[in-house]
Amino acid sequence: MSVKYELKRSNRKTMSIKVEDGQVFVYAPVLTPKFMIENCVRRNEDLIDKKLNDPRINVNYDLQNDDEIYFLGKKYNLQIFTREKSRFLIRDNNLMLYGSSIRSISSDYKKQLCAILTQYVREAKDELGIDFDLDFKFYKSRWGCCYSKKNLIILNYLLACLPYNLIKYVIYHEIVHFTEGNHQRRFYQQLEKICPDYKKLSKELKDYTILKR
Ligand SMILES: [Zn+2]
Repeated sequence: MSVKYELKRSNRKTMSIKVEDGQVFVYAPVLTPKFMIENCVRRNEDLIDKKLNDPRINVNYDLQNDDEIYFLGKKYNLQIFTREKSRFLIRDNNLMLYGSSIRSISSDYKKQLCAILTQYVREAKDELGIDFDLDFKFYKSRWGCCYSKKNLIILNYLLACLPYNLIKYVIYHEIVHFTEGNHQRRFYQQLEKICPDYKKLSKELKDYTILKR
């Protein structure tokens, strides 16, 4: 396969390849020779091919400048700035993260995601008149987990990258596990009571995968 791509040069320091809406973009420093760009594309052909043919939406867990990043279901271009003051900013299609180091930026970003989820969980608790403990973790292949005996729900903090209705769906789903351990008829009957369009939402959720690199 020979990859068709659009080359975008700028005063960046490293090369990066992005696949967006079926199109390949190569970002390169101004002075990188063409053959190096070609080599880089060739080396990543398999990955590019996979991305071009995968209709699913990838949610990242590491932050890389110029990456596409999801936040509450909307796709943004990630801009990272190392500055003393930490800041979280959304402007047009850009999600801008400021902080003293990439480590502190990642941790602030994670806190931001957890705060959003905490808020949505609080809404669900109020609505259903229940209470339980909440914790966050990074999972590679699940959005949440319920420990009914511990009265605890653990959410993948990347859940905050998804649209609001899918976040709510996952929260309701885990809440039903407090009373129904398995995904059997009774489970879905309970779920339907608090989340009538769960079938549609669970299908939509399948469009999202956590990107493993
Ligand atoms: Zn479940």
